[in-house]
Amino acid sequence: MEESKINGEKGKFSPSFVDIQNAEVVEPPPSIGMRIWRVFKKNILIVLLILALCLGVGIGAALRNVEPKFDYRQLMYLKFPGDMLMNMLKMLILPLIVSSLISGLASLDTRASGKMGGLAVAYYLITTFAAVILGIILVVSIGPGYRGGEANRSGSSKIVNTADTFLDLLRQCFPDNLVEIAFLKPVTTQEEVVPEEETMTTAIMNSTVSTMTTTEMTTSNTTTTPAPKVYKPVVGKASGMNVLGVVTFSIFFGILVGKLGEKTKPLKDFFDALNEVTMRLVSLVIWYSPIGVLFLVAHKVVEMENPEQTFQQLLYYFLTVMAGLIAHGFISLPLIYFLFVRKNPLKYIAGVAQAIFTALGTASSSATLPITMRCLEENNGVDPRVTKFVAPVGATINMDGTALYEAVAVIFIGQMQGYDLSIGQIIIISITATTAAIGAAGVPQAGLVTMVIVLTAVGFPTEDVTLILAIDWLLDRFRTAINVLGDAFGAGIVAHLARKELEKMDDIEFGQGEINNGYISSTLEEERL
Ligand code: ASP
Repeated sequence: MEESKINGEKGKFSPSFVDIQNAEVVEPPPSIGMRIWRVFKKNILIVLLILALCLGVGIGAALRNVEPKFDYRQLMYLKFPGDMLMNMLKMLILPLIVSSLISGLASLDTRASGKMGGLAVAYYLITTFAAVILGIILVVSIGPGYRGGEANRSGSSKIVNTADTFLDLLRQCFPDNLVEIAFLKPVTTQEEVVPEEETMTTAIMNSTVSTMTTTEMTTSNTTTTPAPKVYKPVVGKASGMNVLGVVTFSIFFGILVGKLGEKTKPLKDFFDALNEVTMRLVSLVIWYSPIGVLFLVAHKVVEMENPEQTFQQLLYYFLTVMAGLIAHGFISLPLIYFLFVRKNPLKYIAGVAQAIFTALGTASSSATLPITMRCLEENNGVDPRVTKFVAPVGATINMDGTALYEAVAVIFIGQMQGYDLSIGQIIIISITATTAAIGAAGVPQAGLVTMVIVLTAVGFPTEDVTLILAIDWLLDRFRTAINVLGDAFGAGIVAHLARKELEKMDDIEFGQGEINNGYISSTLEEERL
């Protein structure tokens, strides 16, 4: 009956039931050939994904040396199969998040969903903060900013106001238009005030001056020209799915569908069915993922500018982030899992290997979500009622790797530029890096954007972000993998801690089955005897 405990709904019809009732229904034990095929099928995808990552790097490296160099058109063609994978995965995000959250929460009673929600949020916050602390300890003790050469600046950065960013998160949680959330999200931008509008200068300056550094302000006050630029916040909409809005709406909707019981049963059935079909689609896309990953990686490698020089300059920074990510993902998180669940964490990691490699290839935890959910349910036997809730929310707000990277990056920039960091500033970094990571979307390089919040909070110039830009695409892949691993462990731990509530719900459902269905009733009688 272990299966019935772990697997919830599946467990209701566990084989032992059917054995007693009807001997013909018993499936014969799988033959050796069948078993080998299953093991092969389970692992072949992981092998293919690893091959794809290696081949991608190899092919990319070879193509870099081809003369004449790839032009934009050829680069586009090279990326095309990868784009197709990203499109397929992204296409599934909306139906998957909506259907899994609604069908998952609708099948839980309020007590169970409340407990699971509380546990999940506590897990997200504690592990994210732990990742930040680990990052800070590493970057302060290794001091990567004091080693290596001077890094080049590349690109430019946007002006960001911390308060506006937090308000944007709330705006995203409660969008004004439900249809729009599939493709637009509210974002506040800073627009330069044209001279005529400068009557409001004092007020506006007070509200936006936080985007400037102390040094900039001093310079602008003491010199006569040029006058400081003044910005005003403009709330607009940017393209891209508002995942936070989708999650918030689905959570409330799902809880109510569950609460209203019989009246809303058709809705629950609809979302159950939608979820089932979406998961089947995921299974199809998974077989294409190695091809997509190969081309995504090859394209990235061909596109890189000056990799040798960049690596030399940023080597210590890269190694510090990597050490933190590895320690968090393969020591801290497994330890936490073992302490709570008392099961082998390595086996658990092996179960989600496919999702980890997909995260390395796609650099997006949202795009990896379909595969994470499938791995959790099929390989690690996590109760689907838990994965349906914990995985989508985790993919949206739980970003351990991103938080760790943001803390390391900001302190690294401080070390490199010679800004002195007080203990107070380090505390500010730890708090803002945690919140900035929560605010980062599960899309490529979102962490780089929200890192500006942390820079602003400690008064560093936001354009300093460009110092680490050259290597960010690579670190992004690794931190995304740790983000996904964090979500996966979270689901396992919450499923374990909420098992009593889930079992109770099973019992209630059995009880109802006993009354409503003579077949199940007689089966239960026989099993009791
Ligand atoms: N790419 C990361 C993710 O999808 C977010 C980030 O750190 O940029 O999880």
